Amino acid sequence: MLQTMIVGSLPRPTWLVPAGQMYVNWRLEGDALKEGQDDAVLLALADQEAAGLDILTDGEQRRRHYIWGFCEGLEGIDFSRLVKIQTRGGRYGQLVDAARVTGPVRRRGSIMRDTVKFLKRHTTKPVKVTLPGPMTTTDTLADEHYGNRRTLAMELAKILNEEALELEANSCDIVQFDEPCFNIYLDEVEAWGIRALEEAAKGVHAKKAVHICYGYGVPVVLQWKTKNTDWSHYARTLPLLRTSAIDMISVECAASGVDPAVLAQAKGKDLMVGVIDVGTEEVETAETIAARIRAAMQHVDPHHLYPCTDCGMIPRSRAAARGKMKALADGAWLVRTELIEKSRRGAVMGYRPGEQEGKRS
Ligand code: ZN
Repeated sequence: MLQTMIVGSLPRPTWLVPAGQMYVNWRLEGDALKEGQDDAVLLALADQEAAGLDILTDGEQRRRHYIWGFCEGLEGIDFSRLVKIQTRGGRYGQLVDAARVTGPVRRRGSIMRDTVKFLKRHTTKPVKVTLPGPMTTTDTLADEHYGNRRTLAMELAKILNEEALELEANSCDIVQFDEPCFNIYLDEVEAWGIRALEEAAKGVHAKKAVHICYGYGVPVVLQWKTKNTDWSHYARTLPLLRTSAIDMISVECAASGVDPAVLAQAKGKDLMVGVIDVGTEEVETAETIAARIRAAMQHVDPHHLYPCTDCGMIPRSRAAARGKMKALADGAWLVRTELIEKSRRGAVMGYRPGEQEGKRS
């Protein structure tokens, strides 16, 4: 119980990417780039193992950006002439460069299969691979072909499903779809967003997760967060996901104004609860993390609770990311130790050690 992991990304080494880039320009190319990315993934694994995390990712070291890295593997999307569009419902008040959808979207070949194969060769721990969700991917593209967001999302969902099934076939333990837009377009989430997500996850027997957050810890997002007063979005989406085919839900709780009581709305699902603020270089203490986990445990059974980061850690320094991962693992260890001690004393009603451990392997 209380198995720890990060949402997905880690900062890239500066020999691979100049510091501070979100849309990456690689310093290497060709075979040297492939070798550099392999080395960066090995370092990301080593950092997670050293911190003591239980479930590992590749730190998204091979992707230029969590959506672009995927879309660049598709036909029907033109990156040669970008256009400015409003994304995320205009929440962050800026236009961003977007690739154009100019024809039917299709995979040229496998995009993520080698990622999971490499991970499985280099760790014996459970691994998670992240894919962009269909709604958020749609929101990040300038559609000049389908003329309808829902149609484009459903086409992307079919492609994502092919990827997810390949990941599962290569022993991926958790397939995670990133859907920050589930905290923005609430009516569309209900109308077609959940259906598109389920289409992407269809037939996948590995754990199927969705990450829903309030964005990376970058200045424009942090600025919005300090002004925002409405944190009711999860109260609308969690009940919808509770009856969906998705197994795990990642929720931002550390840095936002979200009341952990909302977690009860997803009762029965596994919850990756954000207990690490990814918008600051300050490393939390293990005690702070333990307190956040205890607060979540008021609303989530510890067997369904996976302490996690709020979002990806690309914008952070490597030192801060390492410190935060260690605080995450140490904080979970503190609470796990307390629970085991309490159960020994028979003080935790309904908690029987070992009862659910079989489901975790
Ligand atoms: Zn996120």
